[in-house]
Amino acid sequence: MNNYKILCFANQKGGVGKTTSAVNIAACLGRAGKKVLLVDSDPQGNATSGLGVRKKELTGTIYDVLIEEKQIRDLIVPTSASGVFLLPSGIDLVGAELELADQPRRETRLRKALESVRDDYDYIIIDCPPALGLLTVNTLVASDGVVIPLLCEYYSLEGLSQLTATIRQIRKRSNPDLELVGVLVNLFDGRLNLTVSVLEEIKKYFPGKIFRTPIPRSVRISEAPSYGMTVIDYDKNGKGAAAYAAVTKELMDRCERS
Ligand code: ADP
Ligand code: MG
Repeated sequence: MNNYKILCFANQKGGVGKTTSAVNIAACLGRAGKKVLLVDSDPQGNATSGLGVRKKELTGTIYDVLIEEKQIRDLIVPTSASGVFLLPSGIDLVGAELELADQPRRETRLRKALESVRDDYDYIIIDCPPALGLLTVNTLVASDGVVIPLLCEYYSLEGLSQLTATIRQIRKRSNPDLELVGVLVNLFDGRLNLTVSVLEEIKKYFPGKIFRTPIPRSVRISEAPSYGMTVIDYDKNGKGAAAYAAVTKELMDRCERS
């Protein structure tokens, strides 16, 4: 049994590796024999296109779940990654933030939708947009745990107090059991003194939460989505695939601890 089954990958900064990590960790979970639902909650839809799902062929997106309250089950599609299914996103989601604002139950819509499919999957991984608005609030309310990806750079900790404050607020208001499952350090380069000292700062800020394996900078990781593939399939024997496999193992240990 999973203690933590629904995990969102959140950080209001863009370009820190939320999508890359959500997609590749979902793929590693699939490869480990888990049945995974990946939820793309970013209007940019990078997780959707990165998994080879063609937006033109979709019958609907997460927008229809949040705004039209359509059945989530009817909108989930298979992906290029084995064992991974997707609730896609699309550009219509740009408007959802405003449209949700004056709706009833505006923070719990994703939670309610995911409750209806929770038992069908071993893991539900949510890729968040780079903001702390209603879309991200919906994902935090719906989740059992949060994974925070961040870059191993000087400015990485700046702004994180807003994210941790939002998590605290959500715990207080509606999701008391929401857990910080882990912090994933991305673009790590052990040859640089700066990244090593930044890593020390990150460890102090999130004691005990950092995944042991950081994700290295890798051109293969950034190329894979342009082929609609995960790095696990695109460059099986590369260092990026190895790092994501190690992090996924650690993530499963943390989530399935009973
Ligand atoms: P976010 O979802 O947080 O905005 P992305 O996952 O889209 O961030 O990553 C931002 C950009 O950086 C993308 O072009 C991605 O391919 C690239 N990228 C992310 N992680 C790595 C990495 N470890 N090595 C090389 N490029 C990376
Ligand atoms: Mg993204």
